[in-house]
Amino acid sequence: MKEILLLKDGEIVLKGLNRRSFEDVLKKNLKHALRSAGRFEITSAQSTIYVKPLDDDADLEKACEIVSRVFGIIAFSRAAVCEKTIESVLETAPKYLENQLNNIKTFKVEAKRSDKKFPLKSPEICREVGGEILSKFPHLKVDVHNPDLVVNVEIRDFGAYVHGEPIRGAGGIPVGTGGRAAILISGGLDSPVAAYMMAKRGIRLTAIHFASPPYTSPRAEDKVVRLLRRVSRYAGDMVMYTVPFTKLQEKIKDECPEELFTIIMRRLMMQISERIAEKYECQALITGESLGQVASQTIGALSCTDEATDMLVFRPLIGMDKQEIIDIAYKIDTYDISIEPYEDCCTVFTPKHPRTRPVLKYVKEAQEKPNFEPLVEEALQNLKVTRISADDE
Ligand code: ATP
Ligand code: MG
Repeated sequence: MKEILLLKDGEIVLKGLNRRSFEDVLKKNLKHALRSAGRFEITSAQSTIYVKPLDDDADLEKACEIVSRVFGIIAFSRAAVCEKTIESVLETAPKYLENQLNNIKTFKVEAKRSDKKFPLKSPEICREVGGEILSKFPHLKVDVHNPDLVVNVEIRDFGAYVHGEPIRGAGGIPVGTGGRAAILISGGLDSPVAAYMMAKRGIRLTAIHFASPPYTSPRAEDKVVRLLRRVSRYAGDMVMYTVPFTKLQEKIKDECPEELFTIIMRRLMMQISERIAEKYECQALITGESLGQVASQTIGALSCTDEATDMLVFRPLIGMDKQEIIDIAYKIDTYDISIEPYEDCCTVFTPKHPRTRPVLKYVKEAQEKPNFEPLVEEALQNLKVTRISADDE
């Protein structure tokens, strides 16, 4: 039996005249994401995208899993392809849904007929298909209000399809339609979730990670790579730039007041990230900060961090509490990796009593005294480039 995936566009439908270009990006993203599941033809008509396997050995199970993580799709169905005759539909429906029909008690049939040339109208299709199912599965009853299963029949321009309940898609808008931004990524719980949330709004990501060897180990960096591969399942391929941060952190430790270590480090991170972002055509920075979570994320500390850059900064977790962030980390499968123990450069030289209400004037003075610029230049000259793809997992 031939099968196909039918995908429903999400918010793209609202885009009016831009809709075509949104849909083109979505189809390109799908094609790229699906390459590890086989060869597929991807076409669209009437706010539905058709994903048709081109070979018998295409892995539809895997394709469904991949599709469920592509932003821009609100729901999708794995469906059986029938000929456009009622006989073919009557033969296919009970066979294709046999397993499900055997395990339920009630059902109803819903028919959509967008090809008005089809001789039977929707209510007639429902009646015929319902009758056929009842005769093959005598234990079943029809329940139009609260059925265990809805059997869907779609009569479209290019074919007829039968499927069960549609599966919920990832929602959002297609990655790449919203510009590009740089995610400051650590090995913690928050920044991978922040990355996911901005990709969901159509942003294509570039990743920036600060490493301070030998205070931080190669394993800590490997952890970030593994986290980003999980994010890539949703956000697509990306490049990660690792910034060698050791000398700068040592200079902060040697030449700045201890209670301002963290805030000055965070400001330098933003300033270095801004320069990387400009070079690689990112229009904004993204962080995993959440108001009040730690000393460097109070309103006062965030004002000081924010003042360090003129670039737009997205903080999608700002109003979320830890449990809400953890729920998303579970959903996107980053939780298990995030909770592995590791050293972050943020935890190197943490002051015993960080300022929770730093005064911007003093922070700026403390940052101006040492001359960080030559070391910033040196760090920017020595970025390490890592290519991230979900296929490398
Ligand atoms: P996370 O769980 O993302 O590590 P956090 O709650 O531990 O966040 P901080 O460690 O203070 O908070 O970091 C705040 C934000 O700064 C992070 O969400 C991330 O965006 C960025 N950041 C922290 N450490 C690094 C790093 N080593 N490289 C790049 N960005 C970092
Ligand atoms: Mg952290």
